[in-house]
This record gives sequence, C-alpha cells and structure tokens, in this order.
Amino acid sequence: MKSFFQYYKPYKGLFMLDFGSAVFVGVLELVFPLITSLFIDKLLPTKDWNMIVLGAIGLFLVFSFVTVLKFIVTYWGHKLGTNIERDIRNELYRHLQRLNFGFFDNNKTGKLIGRLTNDLMDIGELAHHGPEEVFVAVMTVIGALLIMLTIDVKLALITFCIVPIICILTIYFNKKMTTQFRRLFGNVSQFNDVISESIGGIRLVQAFTNERFEEKRFLQTNEDFRATKLKAYNFMSWNSSIGYLAQKFTLIIVLILGCYFVLNNAMSYGEFVAFIMITDILFKPLQSINLIIELFPKGIAGFNNFQELMKTTTDIKDEPNAIAFEGTPQVISYENVTFKYGDKTILDDLSFTINRGEKIALVGPSGGGKTTICSMLPRFYDPVDGRITINNVDIKQMTLESLRNKIGLVQQDVFLFSGTLRDNIAYGNLEATDEEIMDAVTKAQLKPFIDTLPEGIHTIVGERGTKLSGGQKQRVSIARMFLKNPEIIILDEATSALDVETENRIQSAFKQLSEGRTTLTIAHRLSTIRDVDRIFYIEDGHIVEMGSHEELINLKGRYYKLQQAQYAQVLG
Ligand code: ADP
Ligand code: MG
Repeated sequence: MKSFFQYYKPYKGLFMLDFGSAVFVGVLELVFPLITSLFIDKLLPTKDWNMIVLGAIGLFLVFSFVTVLKFIVTYWGHKLGTNIERDIRNELYRHLQRLNFGFFDNNKTGKLIGRLTNDLMDIGELAHHGPEEVFVAVMTVIGALLIMLTIDVKLALITFCIVPIICILTIYFNKKMTTQFRRLFGNVSQFNDVISESIGGIRLVQAFTNERFEEKRFLQTNEDFRATKLKAYNFMSWNSSIGYLAQKFTLIIVLILGCYFVLNNAMSYGEFVAFIMITDILFKPLQSINLIIELFPKGIAGFNNFQELMKTTTDIKDEPNAIAFEGTPQVISYENVTFKYGDKTILDDLSFTINRGEKIALVGPSGGGKTTICSMLPRFYDPVDGRITINNVDIKQMTLESLRNKIGLVQQDVFLFSGTLRDNIAYGNLEATDEEIMDAVTKAQLKPFIDTLPEGIHTIVGERGTKLSGGQKQRVSIARMFLKNPEIIILDEATSALDVETENRIQSAFKQLSEGRTTLTIAHRLSTIRDVDRIFYIEDGHIVEMGSHEELINLKGRYYKLQQAQYAQVLG
C-alpha cells in the first residue's frame, strides 16, 4: 500500500483537488434531502412565492457548483490516474529495457506486453477511483444513517436492517462476476497469443496449408471466450436485477411505514420526502461497491505484477566502479570461461586469445556453443566462472555502453523495424548525416537495389522487413554496421540463409566491413572462411582444433572431415 501511495507524491495538489471535490459532492448530495424537507416544511407553509423562487435559485446555484465539482472529479481525477499510470509504465519500460537476455529467454513477449498495457490501465483506474470511492461510500453510508436517525429512529433502524442483506447479495454476485471476468482476462491473453501467433506466422500457416487447423484452434478459443463472457454477464444480470428489486422493495417499505408515521403525526411531510430521498442515496454506495470490488483485485493484481517485475534484477549492468573503455581493443582474451544456461553447462573452462585485426572463424556442429561464445563478448550473458578481458581489463569493469559500442553484431535473422529503409540503416548511428548514410549504403552494396525503388531510401520495409529479400535485409544490417563503425565485428551465420550467388555478393561487402577490424565469423559454409587467419573448430563448448585452413586440412581431423563432406555435397 505504502509503495503504491508513493506514486501520488508528485500529484499532491491534483489528488487534494480530486479528493476534496468528491467529498464535497458527496456531502451536498447528502444535504439535499434535508434542504428539500426544509423547503416543504418551512418555506411552503409561508406561501411566500418570492421566497420559494429565491430558494430555488439558491439551490440552482449550489448545484451548478456541484456540476463543476463533478467535472473536476471526472476529468482531473482521471488526469491523476493517467499520470500515475504513465509514470509507472515509464518506470517499468525503463526497467525492462535493461534486463538481460536470460530474462527475455524465459518470458513471453505477450505476457510482457500485457504487463505494460492492460495491467497498468487497471492500476491507473484504481489510482483514480480507489481512495475516493471508498471514502465517499463510507461517508455516504454513515452520513445517511445519521440523517435518518435524526429524522426518525424507528424507520431508520428498519431500513438499516434491510441494507446488510442487500450488501451481502451484492457482494456475493459481484464475487462470482469478478471471478468470471478474471477468467475472461486469462482468456484474453490466451486469445492474444493465438491471434498473434497465427497472424504473425501467417506465411508459415499458408505454406503448410494449415489454415483449417489454425481456424479450429481459433474458433475453439473464441468459443471459450464467448462462454466465459456470457457466464460473467449472467451474474451481472442477477446482480443488477436483484439489486433493483431490493432497492424498490426497501422504498416501498419506507413508503408504507412513512405513510403510517405521517398519519399518526409522528413525521412531517418534508421529513417523509427527505427520508425517501435518503433511502435512495443509501443505495449509491452499493454501486460504488460494485466498482470497488471490480477495481481493487484487478488494480492490486496489476500492481503486484508490476512490483514483481521491478524486483527482477540483472547482474549484467555497470559495476559501481566501471570505467568507459576508450582505447583500441588490442587483445581479446577468454580466460577459463565456464557458462551454463540454467543447469546445463555449455562452455567449460574455455580459453583463447585474439589479437587486433585478426580474422577468426568459428565452425563446428550446431549446438556446439559458437553463438554462446560470441554472445558473451558484448556481455549478453556473463560467464559463471573465469573471465573475458580486452586489453587485460575484465569486460565487467567497463561500462556496458562503451563495451557494446566497440562491437558490431550481424545476426542470421536480421531484425528490421517497420519504418523506412533509411530509419533502419540509421539505427546503427542515430546521429548519422545523410552523406554518412549514403556512404554506408554504397559500401554495403545496397545502392543498386535502392536505386530501383521509386521511393528510394524512404521506402517502407513492412513489418520486420517483409518487403525485402533475405539478402537485402542482410545488406541493411551490414550498412548499419558501417554506420556504427565498431572495432570488433561478429558475424553469426550471417549468410547461411542466402543462396550462393547472393552470398558471394555479400561476401565482398563483409570483406570491406571487416577490413582492419577484429572479426569473429561463425560460418556454416566453409567456402566463405578460407582466408581467415585462424579457424576454431568448436564442439560441445570446447575448441577441439585450431589453426589456419591449410593447417587444419593437413591435420586431417574434424575440420578436414567437414570440408570433405561439404565438398561432396557441392559435387552432388
Ligand atoms: P551454436 O551456435 O554452435 O549452434 P549455441 O551457442 O547456439 O550453439 O547453443 C549451444 C547450446 O546452448 C545448445 O545446446 C542450445 O540448445 C543451448 N542454448 C542456446 N541458447 C539458449 C538459451 N537462450 N537458453 C537455453 N539454452 C540455450
Ligand atoms: Mg549459432
């Protein structure tokens, strides 16, 4: 609770304005029946028309003021809620952006999107309505009781016997309803998963002509969704019907008893009318209870989820004494590096050294740990044991930003954002000028392609770059690297998905990119790495062979065998 209220701190004024207005509206609503009774009992008998009109004008002014307050409560109250929602969302986003790869390996994107959207909307609503509705509801019930008691004790007590019964019924149906609605939210996220997977994977769906299978899956989920929703509405209908009946039933009892009291001169006409009005007001908090019962569990669940996410920390961050790495990376050293994904050991006591400008190729069976080795250099993952150094400094002692700025990574699946080609290339250096971008485009051999486009570099690439071929996407990512201009380059099977001809074209771009830079190439096709300085043959997280192409061929070991196998394949 305390950690929730801290978010109100920057908006104390807004909160006071909203809360104060809500309370004031509540008080005036309570007082209105009393004023009405005065009208009837005191003003009416004077038969002074001027006074009556004056009274009416006075009331009109008071309620014009209440109208303004109501506007404040709705608008400024929601402003308070949306401000808090925004603050919490920003905080969460900032936090998520810095969590490590390990976290994202284990958390579904859909879930995180839910945390950032729906959950936070619930928190925002709770932040606005929560304190205000609870306070006004309690105040209204107590106030109404007190006023009723001052009018007529007996009638007040009888009325109040009925209220708890209605409360219990309302709470019962509400609980049922919220359980259903909560199930519904579960269904919604399931629903979202099915939709995002089948729409996101539509190319795969159509390629396998699995539309009917997907349709069945979807129809089932959609049907579950409808059924759950209908159940929730069932309880909602019971709730509102029973609530309505109870309210009118209470009013009728008050009406009969009131008539009896008035006829026996135990109550004035004005008091009678006031009593009926107050009884009506008494039912208002019940509606608030509806809202509160719905808001609280949702808002609190959302806030708990938020806090839980905020508690997940990452070890991959700047150490307090971290310094920016400024020089040129001369020597990269893996020293007895051990790494595990969970309990599974991937790298075990791995050591090697790479000098500046060296071109290294990592080859070997898939699953051997090549990608993992490379992911550790930009600290996407940290070693469990041992250390990685650049120029003899542990990379953990460097600021992440300075370390990652030195490293350029081209992956097999290039990720493109849905903007233009230019946006995507400029992602390598957000401050790049047009000339720099065009230079990168030329070096990455993208120019001939861009020249064929009517809109040139301002062409929209589609979601994830679907409007581009694999080779074109690859060249966009190379252009990004030219802009970033890192001193260490990692190419992770960057060309394995391409046909040989495209690959050859891209190879020359890569060659230009890696010139004078330290390069780590993970290669699938051995033909692409003939002229690297050294080849590491990686198997089960160990370097089992190391040397130049000639050396490894002469060794007649695993590399030789792989070479033979691929050669045989090419010859068919
Ligand atoms: P390579 O690049 O040589 O094909 P990887 O480094 O990608 O090999 O994978 C090495 C091993 O680690 C494989 O057995 C793989 O299943 C496992 N692995 C890779 N990435 C993850 C991950 N994010 N979480 C858990 N295990 C992983
Ligand atoms: Mg790999």
